[in-house]
Amino acid sequence: MIRIERFDEISLLGVRVIDPLMRLDAVADVVVRRGVIETVTPVHTAEVHRRSAQEELNSEVSDSGGEAEARSSCLKINARGLILCPGLADIHVHLREPGFEHKETIGTGCRAAAAGGFTFVAPMPNTKPAVDSIEGVRYALDRAAQEDACEVGPIAAITVGREGRVPADFASLLTAGAVAFSDDGVGVEDDAVMADAFRRARDVGAVLIQHCEYRALSAGGVLHKGAVAARRGWPGLDLRSEDAMIERDLRLCRGIRARYHVAHLSTATGVELVRRAKEDGLPVTAEVTPHHLLLTDEACDTGDTNAKMHPPLRTAADVEACRRGLLDGTIDCVATDHAPHTAEEKARGMLQAPPGLIGLETAVPLVARAMIETGLADWTALIRWFTEGPMRVLGRRLHAVAPRQPANLTLLDPAATWKVEPTALHSRSFNTPFLGWWLTGRAVLTIVGRRVARRTEAPAEGPRGK
Ligand SMILES: [Zn+2]
Repeated sequence: MIRIERFDEISLLGVRVIDPLMRLDAVADVVVRRGVIETVTPVHTAEVHRRSAQEELNSEVSDSGGEAEARSSCLKINARGLILCPGLADIHVHLREPGFEHKETIGTGCRAAAAGGFTFVAPMPNTKPAVDSIEGVRYALDRAAQEDACEVGPIAAITVGREGRVPADFASLLTAGAVAFSDDGVGVEDDAVMADAFRRARDVGAVLIQHCEYRALSAGGVLHKGAVAARRGWPGLDLRSEDAMIERDLRLCRGIRARYHVAHLSTATGVELVRRAKEDGLPVTAEVTPHHLLLTDEACDTGDTNAKMHPPLRTAADVEACRRGLLDGTIDCVATDHAPHTAEEKARGMLQAPPGLIGLETAVPLVARAMIETGLADWTALIRWFTEGPMRVLGRRLHAVAPRQPANLTLLDPAATWKVEPTALHSRSFNTPFLGWWLTGRAVLTIVGRRVARRTEAPAEGPRGK
């Protein structure tokens, strides 16, 4: 479980610092004082080994002040073998509040985010009511500030009520604190409305995030239209429903030149379309989810409704294309599409259960499994996909791991082995097809200013693999 505390001074000794922005990968002692990084002092590896042999510097909390009011609290951690990086960001989550608090709240969602290593999340506006007003944006920001577990940047709707008819007032929503716009859950289908939205977004410098799906092509489908759907007799989702909307949007974007971002890209054709658009210099970015880097529609074959999602799990060739797209920069970042649903909702069977899975607390180890354990990439790349990548999509500043920078940091244990089970998670819902999996890699600390979300238990010992 994680505990949220405040410290005036945090010392991380002998930690491997990886900062893609600074092109830094070195072992150092890092000291944070009053929410600001004070020093990043390189240490020779021999020194780290000498220290650990000499003294056992376990995690240590102390009060160094005398008077009760003037007390300053310190957290000192022997971080040998751990990785410190800029705070991770997830730009696609569903926190379900207001309207669906039985699935998740901003409080439980932010704690799940902090437990997963995220210092920033951007919730989608498909709440009830939809976030299409200044009040809606302010509500999310106020609730996140009360919970104080993670920074939140709300995504507001592209169209009023997410109904696909009238573009929302982007300028005032941006002023209120919206970080981007999306009707996620549905795509903006009408060509004229999307063109109008693109022009308005360009005029105010907003990013439009599209959930690419034409319902006329996907209606009734519950999983990828492929071998498993055919074998089990379940209605399939045609991948044209995703590809056709990416094509349409890129065509509009070519003329209007507004910032466009493809949410949860899942098809080989989609990856190729984005690749060509980038080559042509269009202001286009894309994200992929951890599950689309790892699973195929075969995961639905057991009837596990936690493997039902939009876009659906597709073929091995699509998984391969998504991995290649991430490696060559066609895909800019990983985002979880964290979508909580209750056990009762997921017990309705493949045809009736709502689509979606939770993802905040499994994101890092799943991407490590898909991209590092396969030998395709290293921790520097993974960290870039969760830091520099998503922040660039939103045009937000990423804080470096360097002196005088605000402390916005994640401490990862790349070797921690743990089992995905409800008691290990902080989300209100447990809908994930990874339940029962043993994963390697986990966040142990997330730091924003003086606030620290700290994992309290030691990593479990367990078998590698599923
Ligand atoms: Zn979506």
